[in-house]
Amino acid sequence: MNLTTQETIQWIERANSVFQEKKDELTELDQVIGDGDHGINMARGFQAAAEKLQAGSYATPSDALKDAAMTLLSKIGGASGPLYGSAFLKLSSSTKGAETISFDQFKEAMSEATDSLKMRGKAEESDKTMIDVWGPFTAYLQVQSDVQPDEWIEKLADAKEKTKDMQANKGRAAYYKEKSVGHMDAGAASTYYLFAALAEILKE
Ligand code: ADP
Ligand code: MG
Ligand code: MG
Repeated sequence: MNLTTQETIQWIERANSVFQEKKDELTELDQVIGDGDHGINMARGFQAAAEKLQAGSYATPSDALKDAAMTLLSKIGGASGPLYGSAFLKLSSSTKGAETISFDQFKEAMSEATDSLKMRGKAEESDKTMIDVWGPFTAYLQVQSDVQPDEWIEKLADAKEKTKDMQANKGRAAYYKEKSVGHMDAGAASTYYLFAALAEILKE
């Protein structure tokens, strides 16, 4: 893996296309144990981030990730906006100065981003949030020596599915208590799509 600035921008563009396509699906997940806006939030945030990056000019992936972070922070809204914003800010600061992002740098950046999500959300794994995809995916990456996009997608899908069995302790879904069991977390699903989009870029 040697993620260039151009590929970083392509990742955000690809994620944007996916979020436009999956807007209704994510919103429907959030309707069951939330307020039904997660798809709208993600589609709005990534649309703005993709436009911002297309219009900008960046020397490094970190610079592009920083602009993406600021845009996601202000445009996604809801609980997930500050969370995705802080995670992308960490991806940026952790890779600062690098011409391209190596796999080792990516592993470290993902680790820092996941820690920052946990801190910002005051949540842990098994609370039935997006952390239940960020966490297991990051842990899986740490023991890998190379990128395997198809395996990434399997691991991400597996983590997202597992949120069905969990009881929500954070965010709006927590109000549903035991009734939240049996339903997938919307933020776990959007995190799956975000990194599946990166896997697709790395396959090309
Ligand atoms: P809102 O709940 O404000 O409408 P969204 O619908 O956009 O915001 O996002 C909901 C998602 O945010 C949840 O599915 C969950 O994954 C994530 N989330 C909510 N609260 C937390 C938290 N404290 N820590 C981590 N993730 C959270
Ligand atoms: Mg919501
Ligand atoms: Mg909301």
